Amino acid sequence: MPIQSINPANGVLLRNFTPLTGEALLEKIALAESAFARTAEVPLAHRALCMNKLAHLLDCETADLAALITSEMGKPIAQSRAEVAKCAAACRYYAGNAARILAPEPVDAPPLDAVVRWDPLGVILAVMPWNFPFWQVFRFLAPALMAGNVGLLKHASNVPQCALAIEALVRRAGFPRGSFQTLLIEASQVEMVLADERVAAVTVTGSESAGRAIAAQAGWLIKKSVLELGGSDPFIVMPSASLDTAVAAAVQARSVNSGQSCIAAKRFLIADPIYDEFESRFVAAMESMKVGDPTREDTQIGPLATTAQLDEIEAQVVAAIHTGARLLTGGERMIGKGNYYAPTVLAGLPRTAPVYREEVFGPVAMLFRFTDIDEAIAIANDTPFGLAASVWTASSDEQRRFSSALQCGAVFFNAQVASDPRLPFGGVKRSGYGRELSAAGMREFLNAKTVVTAEPEPTP
Ligand code: NAP
Repeated sequence: MPIQSINPANGVLLRNFTPLTGEALLEKIALAESAFARTAEVPLAHRALCMNKLAHLLDCETADLAALITSEMGKPIAQSRAEVAKCAAACRYYAGNAARILAPEPVDAPPLDAVVRWDPLGVILAVMPWNFPFWQVFRFLAPALMAGNVGLLKHASNVPQCALAIEALVRRAGFPRGSFQTLLIEASQVEMVLADERVAAVTVTGSESAGRAIAAQAGWLIKKSVLELGGSDPFIVMPSASLDTAVAAAVQARSVNSGQSCIAAKRFLIADPIYDEFESRFVAAMESMKVGDPTREDTQIGPLATTAQLDEIEAQVVAAIHTGARLLTGGERMIGKGNYYAPTVLAGLPRTAPVYREEVFGPVAMLFRFTDIDEAIAIANDTPFGLAASVWTASSDEQRRFSSALQCGAVFFNAQVASDPRLPFGGVKRSGYGRELSAAGMREFLNAKTVVTAEPEPTP
Protein backbone atom coordinates (compact mmCIF):
# COMPACT_ATOMS: atom_id res chain seq x y z
CA MET A 1 0.00 0.00 0.00
CA PRO A 2 1.42 3.44 -0.88
CA ILE A 3 1.71 5.99 1.92
CA GLN A 4 -0.52 8.85 0.83
CA SER A 5 -0.49 12.52 1.68
CA ILE A 6 -4.05 13.80 1.13
CA ASN A 7 -5.32 17.32 1.77
CA PRO A 8 -8.28 16.83 4.17
CA ALA A 9 -9.79 20.17 3.18
CA ASN A 10 -10.55 19.00 -0.37
CA GLY A 11 -9.56 15.34 -0.70
CA VAL A 12 -6.78 16.09 -3.22
CA LEU A 13 -3.91 13.59 -3.27
CA LEU A 14 -0.75 15.63 -2.67
CA ARG A 15 1.92 12.91 -2.88
CA ASN A 16 2.40 9.16 -2.86
CA PHE A 17 5.30 7.35 -1.18
CA THR A 18 6.34 3.73 -1.43
CA PRO A 19 7.02 2.17 1.98
CA LEU A 20 10.62 1.18 2.67
CA THR A 21 11.60 -2.38 1.84
CA GLY A 22 12.88 -4.59 4.65
CA GLU A 23 16.40 -4.22 3.26
CA ALA A 24 16.26 -0.40 3.17
CA LEU A 25 14.91 -0.44 6.71
CA LEU A 26 17.85 -2.49 7.95
CA GLU A 27 20.26 -0.01 6.32
CA LYS A 28 18.62 2.84 8.21
CA ILE A 29 18.84 0.98 11.52
CA ALA A 30 22.53 0.31 10.85
CA LEU A 31 23.07 4.00 10.13
CA ALA A 32 21.29 4.91 13.39
CA GLU A 33 23.54 2.55 15.32
CA SER A 34 26.69 4.11 13.86
CA ALA A 35 25.28 7.61 14.48
CA PHE A 36 24.84 6.72 18.17
CA ALA A 37 28.50 5.76 18.40
CA ARG A 38 29.52 9.06 16.72
CA THR A 39 27.14 11.12 18.87
CA ALA A 40 28.94 9.97 22.00
CA GLU A 41 32.00 11.88 20.75
CA VAL A 42 30.09 15.13 20.20
CA PRO A 43 30.46 17.43 23.23
CA LEU A 44 27.22 18.53 24.87
CA ALA A 45 28.00 22.18 24.09
CA HIS A 46 28.15 21.33 20.38
CA ARG A 47 24.87 19.44 20.55
CA ALA A 48 23.37 22.57 22.15
CA LEU A 49 24.66 24.65 19.23
CA CYS A 50 22.96 22.28 16.78
CA MET A 51 19.75 22.34 18.82
CA ASN A 52 19.71 26.15 18.84
CA LYS A 53 20.32 26.13 15.10
CA LEU A 54 17.35 23.78 14.73
CA ALA A 55 15.23 26.30 16.63
CA HIS A 56 16.52 29.06 14.34
CA LEU A 57 15.63 27.05 11.22
CA LEU A 58 12.12 26.48 12.56
CA ASP A 59 11.74 30.21 13.20
CA CYS A 60 13.03 31.18 9.76
CA GLU A 61 10.91 28.64 7.91
CA THR A 62 7.73 28.87 9.95
CA ALA A 63 5.53 30.01 7.06
CA ASP A 64 6.45 27.08 4.79
CA LEU A 65 6.38 24.48 7.57
CA ALA A 66 3.01 25.71 8.83
CA ALA A 67 1.60 25.56 5.29
CA LEU A 68 2.83 21.97 5.03
CA ILE A 69 1.15 20.99 8.33
CA THR A 70 -2.12 22.61 7.23
CA SER A 71 -2.07 20.97 3.81
CA GLU A 72 -1.44 17.47 5.20
CA MET A 73 -3.73 17.37 8.23
CA GLY A 74 -5.98 20.42 8.02
CA LYS A 75 -4.95 22.41 11.10
CA PRO A 76 -6.04 26.08 10.89
CA ILE A 77 -2.99 27.96 9.66
CA ALA A 78 -2.57 30.25 12.69
CA GLN A 79 -2.44 27.15 14.92
CA SER A 80 0.10 25.52 12.58
CA ARG A 81 2.40 28.53 12.97
CA ALA A 82 1.97 28.34 16.75
CA GLU A 83 2.90 24.66 16.62
CA VAL A 84 6.16 25.39 14.80
CA ALA A 85 6.98 28.16 17.29
CA LYS A 86 6.39 25.76 20.18
CA CYS A 87 8.83 23.27 18.64
CA ALA A 88 11.47 26.00 18.50
CA ALA A 89 10.80 26.79 22.17
CA ALA A 90 11.31 23.13 23.13
CA CYS A 91 14.61 23.02 21.22
CA ARG A 92 15.80 26.12 23.08
CA TYR A 93 14.62 24.75 26.43
CA TYR A 94 16.64 21.55 26.03
CA ALA A 95 19.64 23.35 24.52
CA GLY A 96 19.69 25.57 27.61
CA ASN A 97 18.85 23.00 30.26
CA ALA A 98 20.45 19.73 29.14
CA ALA A 99 23.70 20.37 31.00
CA ARG A 100 21.77 20.79 34.27
CA ILE A 101 19.53 17.77 33.71
CA LEU A 102 22.37 15.51 32.59
CA ALA A 103 24.88 16.55 35.26
CA PRO A 104 26.02 13.58 37.39
CA GLU A 105 24.30 13.66 40.80
CA PRO A 106 26.44 13.00 43.87
CA VAL A 107 24.63 10.76 46.38
CA ASP A 108 24.89 11.38 50.11
CA ALA A 109 25.48 7.77 51.22
CA PRO A 110 28.47 7.69 53.60
CA PRO A 111 30.85 5.98 53.75
CA LEU A 112 30.33 5.38 50.03
CA ASP A 113 31.59 7.78 47.38
CA ALA A 114 28.63 7.46 45.04
CA VAL A 115 27.32 9.32 42.03
CA VAL A 116 24.47 8.81 39.54
CA ARG A 117 25.35 9.34 35.88
CA TRP A 118 22.72 9.89 33.19
CA ASP A 119 23.77 7.89 30.14
CA PRO A 120 21.89 7.64 26.84
CA LEU A 121 20.27 4.32 25.92
CA GLY A 122 20.96 4.34 22.16
CA VAL A 123 18.56 4.10 19.23
CA ILE A 124 15.02 5.06 20.25
CA LEU A 125 12.01 4.32 18.04
CA ALA A 126 9.28 6.97 18.08
CA VAL A 127 5.82 6.01 16.81
CA MET A 128 3.89 9.23 16.40
CA PRO A 129 0.39 10.51 15.51
CA TRP A 130 -0.74 13.10 12.97
CA ASN A 131 -2.60 15.53 15.21
CA PHE A 132 0.41 17.70 16.07
CA PRO A 133 2.70 16.38 13.35
CA PHE A 134 5.64 18.59 14.38
CA TRP A 135 5.12 19.12 18.10
CA GLN A 136 4.65 15.43 18.97
CA VAL A 137 7.93 14.64 17.24
CA PHE A 138 9.92 17.57 18.58
CA ARG A 139 8.97 16.91 22.18
CA PHE A 140 10.62 13.52 21.71
CA LEU A 141 13.55 14.50 19.54
CA ALA A 142 14.79 17.61 21.37
CA PRO A 143 15.50 15.84 24.70
CA ALA A 144 16.56 12.61 22.99
CA LEU A 145 19.20 14.20 20.76
CA MET A 146 20.48 16.51 23.50
CA ALA A 147 20.96 13.49 25.75
CA GLY A 148 23.00 11.69 23.10
CA ASN A 149 20.33 9.23 21.98
CA VAL A 150 19.41 8.90 18.31
CA GLY A 151 15.90 8.67 16.87
CA LEU A 152 14.00 6.61 14.33
CA LEU A 153 10.60 8.07 13.50
CA LYS A 154 7.61 6.06 12.33
CA HIS A 155 5.18 8.89 11.77
CA ALA A 156 1.46 8.52 11.08
CA SER A 157 0.90 7.43 7.50
CA ASN A 158 -1.09 10.57 6.57
CA VAL A 159 1.75 13.03 7.35
CA PRO A 160 4.77 11.67 5.43
CA GLN A 161 5.80 15.08 4.13
CA CYS A 162 5.96 16.52 7.65
CA ALA A 163 8.05 13.51 8.70
CA LEU A 164 10.54 14.04 5.88
CA ALA A 165 10.68 17.80 6.53
CA ILE A 166 11.62 17.17 10.19
CA GLU A 167 14.40 14.76 9.20
CA ALA A 168 15.80 17.35 6.77
CA LEU A 169 15.70 20.11 9.43
CA VAL A 170 17.63 17.99 11.94
CA ARG A 171 20.27 17.17 9.31
CA ARG A 172 20.64 20.84 8.32
CA ALA A 173 21.02 21.80 11.99
CA GLY A 174 24.30 19.90 12.03
CA PHE A 175 23.58 16.73 14.01
CA PRO A 176 25.67 13.73 12.92
CA ARG A 177 24.30 11.91 9.84
CA GLY A 178 21.72 9.32 10.88
CA SER A 179 20.97 10.96 14.26
CA PHE A 180 17.33 11.30 13.34
CA GLN A 181 15.77 9.37 10.48
CA THR A 182 12.23 9.10 9.19
CA LEU A 183 11.12 5.60 8.32
CA LEU A 184 8.39 5.66 5.69
CA ILE A 185 6.86 2.38 6.80
CA GLU A 186 3.46 0.90 7.52
CA ALA A 187 2.26 0.16 11.05
CA SER A 188 2.81 -3.56 10.41
CA GLN A 189 6.55 -2.94 9.92
CA VAL A 190 6.99 -1.43 13.40
CA GLU A 191 7.26 -4.91 14.89
CA MET A 192 10.36 -5.65 12.83
CA VAL A 193 12.05 -2.39 13.84
CA LEU A 194 11.35 -2.84 17.53
CA ALA A 195 12.53 -6.46 17.41
CA ASP A 196 15.90 -5.38 16.05
CA GLU A 197 18.56 -5.73 18.75
CA ARG A 198 20.04 -2.36 17.81
CA VAL A 199 16.84 -0.56 18.86
CA ALA A 200 16.92 0.08 22.60
CA ALA A 201 13.51 1.53 23.45
CA VAL A 202 10.25 2.89 22.07
CA THR A 203 7.95 5.82 22.67
CA VAL A 204 4.40 5.77 21.35
CA THR A 205 1.97 8.64 21.09
CA GLY A 206 -1.35 7.53 19.70
CA SER A 207 -4.37 5.39 20.31
CA GLU A 208 -4.85 2.73 22.94
CA SER A 209 -4.71 -0.02 20.33
CA ALA A 210 -1.34 1.13 18.98
CA GLY A 211 0.02 1.58 22.50
CA ARG A 212 -1.18 -1.81 23.65
CA ALA A 213 0.30 -3.66 20.64
CA ILE A 214 3.68 -1.94 20.80
CA ALA A 215 4.02 -2.00 24.59
CA ALA A 216 3.17 -5.71 24.63
CA GLN A 217 6.00 -6.39 22.23
CA ALA A 218 8.38 -4.08 24.10
CA GLY A 219 7.51 -5.85 27.35
CA TRP A 220 8.22 -9.22 25.77
CA LEU A 221 11.56 -7.92 24.48
CA ILE A 222 12.28 -6.23 27.84
CA LYS A 223 12.76 -2.86 26.19
CA LYS A 224 11.79 0.40 27.84
CA SER A 225 8.57 1.99 26.57
CA VAL A 226 6.74 5.27 27.14
CA LEU A 227 3.07 5.54 26.20
CA GLU A 228 1.23 8.81 25.57
CA LEU A 229 -2.26 7.68 24.65
CA GLY A 230 -5.77 9.03 24.54
CA GLY A 231 -7.71 11.17 26.96
CA SER A 232 -11.21 12.27 27.84
CA ASP A 233 -10.24 15.21 29.99
CA PRO A 234 -12.79 16.82 32.31
CA PHE A 235 -13.35 20.58 32.38
CA ILE A 236 -15.00 21.29 35.74
CA VAL A 237 -16.75 24.56 36.54
CA MET A 238 -17.61 25.31 40.18
CA PRO A 239 -20.10 28.04 41.20
CA SER A 240 -17.32 30.46 42.26
CA ALA A 241 -15.80 30.57 38.75
CA SER A 242 -16.16 33.53 36.43
CA LEU A 243 -18.67 32.25 33.89
CA ASP A 244 -17.52 34.57 31.09
CA THR A 245 -13.93 33.36 31.33
CA ALA A 246 -14.88 29.73 31.84
CA VAL A 247 -17.21 29.62 28.81
CA ALA A 248 -14.62 31.26 26.54
CA ALA A 249 -11.93 28.84 27.73
CA ALA A 250 -14.27 25.86 27.41
CA VAL A 251 -14.97 26.59 23.76
CA GLN A 252 -11.29 27.09 23.07
CA ALA A 253 -10.37 23.92 24.98
CA ARG A 254 -12.83 21.79 23.00
CA SER A 255 -12.09 23.23 19.57
CA VAL A 256 -8.29 23.52 19.60
CA ASN A 257 -6.84 21.59 16.66
CA SER A 258 -10.43 21.11 15.43
CA GLY A 259 -11.06 19.01 18.54
CA GLN A 260 -8.26 16.55 17.75
CA SER A 261 -6.02 16.97 20.76
CA CYS A 262 -5.34 14.41 23.47
CA ILE A 263 -5.57 17.15 26.12
CA ALA A 264 -8.60 18.88 24.62
CA ALA A 265 -11.33 19.13 27.24
CA LYS A 266 -13.92 16.58 26.17
CA ARG A 267 -16.31 16.31 29.14
CA PHE A 268 -17.70 19.51 30.65
CA LEU A 269 -18.85 19.08 34.25
CA ILE A 270 -20.88 22.07 35.43
CA ALA A 271 -22.22 22.79 38.93
CA ASP A 272 -26.01 22.70 39.13
CA PRO A 273 -26.61 26.38 40.12
CA ILE A 274 -24.77 27.65 37.01
CA TYR A 275 -25.47 24.75 34.63
CA ASP A 276 -28.37 26.23 32.63
CA GLU A 277 -26.60 29.54 32.09
CA PHE A 278 -23.36 27.78 31.12
CA GLU A 279 -25.18 25.45 28.71
CA SER A 280 -26.92 28.21 26.78
CA ARG A 281 -23.80 30.39 26.54
CA PHE A 282 -21.57 27.45 25.60
CA VAL A 283 -23.92 26.24 22.85
CA ALA A 284 -24.17 29.76 21.40
CA ALA A 285 -20.37 30.11 21.44
CA MET A 286 -19.83 26.73 19.75
CA GLU A 287 -22.37 27.67 17.07
CA SER A 288 -20.49 30.91 16.38
CA MET A 289 -17.17 29.16 15.68
CA LYS A 290 -15.86 29.76 12.15
CA VAL A 291 -15.54 26.38 10.46
CA GLY A 292 -13.91 26.17 7.05
CA ASP A 293 -10.83 26.50 4.87
CA PRO A 294 -7.85 25.97 7.20
CA THR A 295 -5.62 28.22 5.10
CA ARG A 296 -7.75 31.26 6.03
CA GLU A 297 -6.43 33.31 8.93
CA ASP A 298 -9.83 33.63 10.61
CA THR A 299 -10.76 29.94 10.50
CA GLN A 300 -11.16 28.46 13.98
CA ILE A 301 -12.10 24.86 13.12
CA GLY A 302 -10.78 23.11 10.03
CA PRO A 303 -11.54 19.70 8.53
CA LEU A 304 -10.88 16.51 10.47
CA ALA A 305 -7.59 14.99 9.41
CA THR A 306 -8.89 11.88 7.66
CA THR A 307 -12.15 10.47 6.33
CA ALA A 308 -11.80 7.62 8.84
CA GLN A 309 -11.75 10.19 11.63
CA LEU A 310 -14.89 11.82 10.24
CA ASP A 311 -16.70 8.46 9.99
CA GLU A 312 -15.77 7.61 13.58
CA ILE A 313 -17.02 10.91 15.02
CA GLU A 314 -20.26 10.60 13.09
CA ALA A 315 -20.82 7.04 14.39
CA GLN A 316 -20.03 8.06 17.99
CA VAL A 317 -22.53 10.93 17.93
CA VAL A 318 -25.26 8.80 16.35
CA ALA A 319 -24.69 6.09 18.99
CA ALA A 320 -24.79 8.68 21.79
CA ILE A 321 -28.15 10.02 20.59
CA HIS A 322 -29.54 6.46 20.29
CA THR A 323 -28.67 5.81 23.92
CA GLY A 324 -30.52 8.92 25.09
CA ALA A 325 -28.14 11.88 24.85
CA ARG A 326 -29.73 15.23 23.93
CA LEU A 327 -28.26 16.90 20.85
CA LEU A 328 -28.04 20.62 21.59
CA THR A 329 -26.36 21.66 18.35
CA GLY A 330 -24.47 20.20 15.37
CA GLY A 331 -24.43 16.45 15.04
CA GLU A 332 -23.77 16.25 11.31
CA ARG A 333 -21.19 16.38 8.56
CA MET A 334 -21.01 19.66 6.74
CA ILE A 335 -21.93 19.57 3.07
CA GLY A 336 -19.23 19.94 0.41
CA LYS A 337 -15.71 18.68 -0.14
CA GLY A 338 -13.47 18.03 2.83
CA ASN A 339 -13.84 16.26 6.17
CA TYR A 340 -15.88 18.93 7.94
CA TYR A 341 -18.00 18.14 11.01
CA ALA A 342 -20.22 20.73 12.67
CA PRO A 343 -19.30 21.82 16.22
CA THR A 344 -21.53 19.63 18.35
CA VAL A 345 -22.80 19.67 21.93
CA LEU A 346 -24.39 16.68 23.67
CA ALA A 347 -25.99 16.68 27.12
CA GLY A 348 -27.58 14.15 29.45
CA LEU A 349 -25.34 11.32 28.27
CA PRO A 350 -26.23 8.12 30.15
CA ARG A 351 -23.43 6.08 31.70
CA THR A 352 -24.45 3.20 29.45
CA ALA A 353 -23.61 5.09 26.26
CA PRO A 354 -20.42 3.66 24.71
CA VAL A 355 -19.11 7.17 24.11
CA TYR A 356 -19.28 7.85 27.86
CA ARG A 357 -16.11 5.76 28.17
CA GLU A 358 -14.52 6.56 24.79
CA GLU A 359 -12.38 9.37 23.52
CA VAL A 360 -14.13 11.70 21.06
CA PHE A 361 -11.50 13.11 18.73
CA GLY A 362 -13.32 16.00 17.06
CA PRO A 363 -15.32 19.15 17.90
CA VAL A 364 -17.91 17.35 20.03
CA ALA A 365 -18.52 18.39 23.65
CA MET A 366 -20.39 16.40 26.29
CA LEU A 367 -22.05 18.34 29.14
CA PHE A 368 -22.74 16.90 32.60
CA ARG A 369 -24.47 18.45 35.62
CA PHE A 370 -23.27 17.81 39.19
CA THR A 371 -24.58 18.81 42.59
CA ASP A 372 -21.42 18.95 44.75
CA ILE A 373 -17.66 18.49 44.66
CA ASP A 374 -17.91 14.77 45.52
CA GLU A 375 -20.09 14.16 42.49
CA ALA A 376 -17.81 16.30 40.29
CA ILE A 377 -14.80 14.20 41.32
CA ALA A 378 -16.72 10.95 40.84
CA ILE A 379 -17.79 11.86 37.29
CA ALA A 380 -14.34 13.22 36.41
CA ASN A 381 -12.68 9.96 37.48
CA ASP A 382 -15.35 7.75 35.89
CA THR A 383 -13.32 7.20 32.73
CA PRO A 384 -10.65 4.74 31.65
CA PHE A 385 -8.38 7.70 30.85
CA GLY A 386 -6.31 9.97 33.07
CA LEU A 387 -4.42 12.58 31.12
CA ALA A 388 -5.30 16.00 32.58
CA ALA A 389 -8.07 18.14 34.04
CA SER A 390 -9.01 21.80 33.96
CA VAL A 391 -10.87 23.06 37.03
CA TRP A 392 -12.45 26.47 37.42
CA THR A 393 -12.87 27.61 41.02
CA ALA A 394 -11.85 30.54 43.21
CA SER A 395 -11.75 28.38 46.36
CA SER A 396 -8.33 27.23 47.57
CA ASP A 397 -9.99 24.46 49.65
CA GLU A 398 -11.60 23.10 46.51
CA GLN A 399 -8.29 23.38 44.65
CA ARG A 400 -6.55 21.28 47.31
CA ARG A 401 -9.29 18.66 47.16
CA PHE A 402 -9.28 18.42 43.36
CA SER A 403 -5.45 18.33 43.22
CA SER A 404 -5.30 15.18 45.27
CA ALA A 405 -8.53 13.45 44.19
CA LEU A 406 -8.40 13.73 40.41
CA GLN A 407 -6.83 10.67 38.78
CA CYS A 408 -4.75 12.23 36.03
CA GLY A 409 -1.27 13.45 35.09
CA ALA A 410 -1.94 17.20 35.42
CA VAL A 411 -4.49 19.56 36.95
CA PHE A 412 -4.77 23.16 35.75
CA PHE A 413 -6.83 25.58 37.85
CA ASN A 414 -8.58 28.47 36.12
CA ALA A 415 -6.61 27.73 32.96
CA GLN A 416 -6.83 25.53 29.93
CA VAL A 417 -4.58 22.46 29.97
CA ALA A 418 -1.50 22.94 27.76
CA SER A 419 1.83 21.23 27.35
CA ASP A 420 4.97 23.22 28.16
CA PRO A 421 8.61 22.13 27.71
CA ARG A 422 9.29 23.00 31.37
CA LEU A 423 6.53 20.78 32.80
CA PRO A 424 6.24 16.97 32.91
CA PHE A 425 3.54 15.76 30.53
CA GLY A 426 1.80 12.38 30.56
CA GLY A 427 -1.02 10.35 31.98
CA VAL A 428 -2.18 7.56 34.25
CA LYS A 429 -4.68 4.72 33.71
CA ARG A 430 -5.23 3.99 30.01
CA SER A 431 -3.77 7.35 28.99
CA GLY A 432 -0.40 5.63 29.29
CA TYR A 433 2.70 5.80 31.43
CA GLY A 434 5.98 7.64 31.54
CA ARG A 435 6.46 11.35 30.99
CA GLU A 436 7.57 13.66 28.22
CA LEU A 437 9.07 17.16 28.49
CA SER A 438 11.02 18.72 31.40
CA ALA A 439 13.79 16.76 33.14
CA ALA A 440 11.39 13.85 33.71
CA GLY A 441 10.83 13.41 29.97
CA MET A 442 14.52 13.55 29.13
CA ARG A 443 15.33 10.93 31.76
CA GLU A 444 12.85 8.36 30.42
CA PHE A 445 15.44 7.27 27.87
CA LEU A 446 18.50 7.55 30.07
CA ASN A 447 20.26 4.98 32.17
CA ALA A 448 20.53 6.22 35.77
CA LYS A 449 23.87 4.55 36.28
CA THR A 450 25.12 4.26 39.88
CA VAL A 451 28.89 4.63 40.17
CA VAL A 452 30.55 3.84 43.52
CA THR A 453 34.27 4.49 43.91
CA ALA A 454 36.25 3.07 46.82
CA GLU A 455 39.80 4.10 47.66
CA PRO A 456 42.14 1.60 45.99
CA GLU A 457 44.11 -0.61 48.39
CA PRO A 458 47.62 0.81 48.72
CA THR A 459 49.94 -1.30 46.61
CA PRO A 460 52.54 -3.10 48.74
P1 NAP B 1 -3.00 5.79 16.01
O1 NAP B 1 -3.92 5.31 14.99
O2 NAP B 1 -2.74 4.94 17.18
O3 NAP B 1 -1.62 6.10 15.27
C1 NAP B 1 -0.49 6.57 15.97
C2 NAP B 1 0.73 5.96 15.36
O4 NAP B 1 0.76 4.57 15.66
C3 NAP B 1 0.78 6.06 13.84
O5 NAP B 1 2.10 6.25 13.45
C4 NAP B 1 0.25 4.69 13.40
O6 NAP B 1 0.68 4.34 12.12
C5 NAP B 1 0.86 3.82 14.46
N1 NAP B 1 0.15 2.57 14.70
C6 NAP B 1 -1.18 2.37 14.78
N2 NAP B 1 -1.44 1.08 15.10
C7 NAP B 1 -0.25 0.46 15.23
C8 NAP B 1 0.14 -0.87 15.54
N3 NAP B 1 -0.75 -1.83 15.82
N4 NAP B 1 1.45 -1.17 15.57
C9 NAP B 1 2.37 -0.22 15.31
N5 NAP B 1 2.06 1.06 15.00
C10 NAP B 1 0.76 1.41 14.98
O7 NAP B 1 -3.44 7.20 16.59
P2 NAP B 1 -3.83 8.49 15.76
O8 NAP B 1 -5.20 8.30 15.27
O9 NAP B 1 -2.75 8.82 14.77
O10 NAP B 1 -3.73 9.61 16.88
C11 NAP B 1 -4.79 9.91 17.69
C12 NAP B 1 -4.62 9.32 19.07
O11 NAP B 1 -3.40 9.77 19.63
C13 NAP B 1 -5.69 9.78 20.01
O12 NAP B 1 -6.11 8.71 20.82
C14 NAP B 1 -4.97 10.81 20.86
O13 NAP B 1 -5.55 11.06 22.11
C15 NAP B 1 -3.63 10.24 20.95
N6 NAP B 1 -2.64 11.26 21.34
C16 NAP B 1 -2.10 11.22 22.58
C17 NAP B 1 -1.21 12.21 22.98
C18 NAP B 1 -0.61 12.20 24.35
O14 NAP B 1 0.37 12.89 24.56
N7 NAP B 1 -1.12 11.47 25.31
C19 NAP B 1 -0.87 13.22 22.11
C20 NAP B 1 -1.45 13.23 20.85
C21 NAP B 1 -2.33 12.24 20.47
P3 NAP B 1 -0.31 4.48 10.86
O15 NAP B 1 -0.65 5.91 10.74
O16 NAP B 1 0.49 3.95 9.74
O17 NAP B 1 -1.52 3.64 11.20
